[in-house]
Formats: sequence, C-alpha cells, structure tokens
Amino acid sequence: MVLAVGPLSGVEPSLLSRAFRLARASTIAENAELEIEHTPAVVWCDTCGVETEAAANALSCGRCGAWKVTLKAGNELMLKRVDLVPAEEPIVATAG
Ligand SMILES: [Zn+2]
Repeated sequence: MVLAVGPLSGVEPSLLSRAFRLARASTIAENAELEIEHTPAVVWCDTCGVETEAAANALSCGRCGAWKVTLKAGNELMLKRVDLVPAEEPIVATAG
C-alpha cells in the first residue's frame, strides 16, 4: 500500500513504518509492504496568485516571498493505493 505523507501532517514516517511492521505481524497481512511518498508543502500566494512549493518550516511564496499564503497541500496523510495479491496457496474449504 502506498501512503502520501505531507511534511505538516504531524506524522513521522520512520515511526509510521515501524508501527506498520508491528501491526502486520502474525496477521493475514504479515507480508504487506508499506511505501511512503513524501509530498511537498504547497502554498497559494494571496499577493501574486501563484501556487509554489514551500519549506515546511517557512510557509512563504516561492516567487515573491510573501508570508500571506494559504496552505494547499502538505498536511495530508492519504491512502493512495492498495495492491492486493492473491495468496500463493488458495484457501480451500473442506467439506464433510
Ligand atoms: Zn507571491
């Protein structure tokens, strides 16, 4: 599965990965893999009206440097994709 994690999401990717490995252990999903995509912080500038990427600790316009910006992306924790792979040995119900 693929998660998109923004720098302002409050999620620490390394801790999330560790928690995922613990959560999957001894479950039907014990071979599940987690991929984390790091998405940038994106701001909309009220002054020049453009969208630019910004540093998570300095949310200002990448074009004119203005601080009056609106956060457009960067605070997300989003499930982007889940790939399901059939089990190698099919689960067979036994009757009688
Ligand atoms: Zn600007």
